[in-house]
Amino acid sequence: TVSVMLFTSDLRVHDQPALAAAVREADEVVPLFVLDPGVGKSGFAAPNRRAFLADCLASLDTGLRQRGGRLVIRAGETAGQVRRVVAETGARSVHVAAGVSAYARRREDRLRAELAGVRCELRVHDGVVTALPPGAVTPANRDHFAVFTPYFRRWEATGTRPVTAAPRTLRVPELAGHPLPDRAAVTGLSPALPRGGEHEGRARLRAWLARGVSAYEDRHDDLPGDATSRLSPHLHFGALSAAELVHRARRAGGPGADAFVRQLAWRDFHHQVLAARPDAAHADYRPRGDRWRDDEKEIAAWKEGRTGCPVVDAGMRQLAHEGWMHNRARLLTASYLTKTLYVDWRVGARHFLDLLVDGDLANNQLNWQWVAGTGTDTRPNRILNPLAQARRFDPRGEYVRRWVPELAELGAAEIHRPESIDADRRSRLDYPDPLIDPAEGRARFARARGLD
Ligand code: FAD
Repeated sequence: TVSVMLFTSDLRVHDQPALAAAVREADEVVPLFVLDPGVGKSGFAAPNRRAFLADCLASLDTGLRQRGGRLVIRAGETAGQVRRVVAETGARSVHVAAGVSAYARRREDRLRAELAGVRCELRVHDGVVTALPPGAVTPANRDHFAVFTPYFRRWEATGTRPVTAAPRTLRVPELAGHPLPDRAAVTGLSPALPRGGEHEGRARLRAWLARGVSAYEDRHDDLPGDATSRLSPHLHFGALSAAELVHRARRAGGPGADAFVRQLAWRDFHHQVLAARPDAAHADYRPRGDRWRDDEKEIAAWKEGRTGCPVVDAGMRQLAHEGWMHNRARLLTASYLTKTLYVDWRVGARHFLDLLVDGDLANNQLNWQWVAGTGTDTRPNRILNPLAQARRFDPRGEYVRRWVPELAELGAAEIHRPESIDADRRSRLDYPDPLIDPAEGRARFARARGLD
């Protein structure tokens, strides 16, 4: 017998329940990835993520070859391609991880419809993409949690499924396929884009557990310290399993590991919101009657990292250079756009998705909504004061100096407020004046939300 393992956001062989089930059930397995032009049409195939995906597919192919198999690549609409593979091999089952987005749901529906006619069963596996599947814990009379803290309490008490062993061997039937996509062929990448793939991800995870996680609780907000795991793109593509990370961090133990596990629960939290409310990818989760401003010049300055607010500009430039941004900087830049400039969160979320290598519909859109106060934050009108935040999380100005070299010669006392230095020195810096006084932005926002 033959089964098909359709890889989507789960590009790994370790702790891969869907692959393990496919191998267990059949004599031969087709490990399949479909390059679907629909992803490009949805605007989701940004160059940074296409390059990282190429790394992930190459690494997955290597992992499968080490077990006697290989990855089969096809191109076209996913359900139609799967049906062709089923017809070519006589497969009796197709295994796929459950997804949370509207796109993933539609793909599942199409697969079901295509396979119904050919006596092939679709097996959708929960708990592959997240540590705990959406819907595994719910409040009384509701289909999802809208607040993190009670979600986290239940999430922690429930525990995640055990880790699944990687298959030792697998046999793949003779089949034609496309060559692996080539990272080098993708243009327009961020210059310091990280490398992807399961091999790389697991090496980073080992190093993180050995050397990084113990200091995470104290240092995760330290902007120049850069002391977070940077595992997010590996999680986004499923090259690492969230459930395995939870188990391994718990085994490492200590306050750093606890704080890290809590962040992984945030990831699950946003996924269960999106699974219940797929429209929250685009529509306000909790509408606040906002009539956002739409100022092209300000939006362009924000994207370029030339707002005149150094810590915001530093974050935006890190994003462009690395395809990644520190979480504290994401919070600051997003708060600046949505609350200080009062620009629609969708504008910022789109820009992040164009660049972030970990760009993820659930985590990105719902974090943006959280910051904009249209999402799950229980204090929707809070505004992060960029100056106070910069002084707290970048007290010596090292993060700003790294990313905004125009300001490199300024000392710690002045680097976060270059507009305050004397006019003569100021005129020699190639750095813009602030777009807005944050106090003015704060007052405008308060008026807009009817708080004054
Ligand atoms: P660590 O601090 O090491 O955390 C470990 C893991 O926990 C992360 O890899 C991530 O999977 C998860 N995690 C941590 N914080 C969050 C959070 N707030 N929400 C959900 N999961 C979290 N994360 C994405 O993965 N993709 C996105 O597109 C994304 N967009 C964001 C947009 C905004 C405006 C904000 C404020 C946050 C966004 N985040 C996003 C969440 C967070 O900033 C990143 O997950 C984190 O910075 C990744 O770095 P790390 O792996 O070093 O994180």
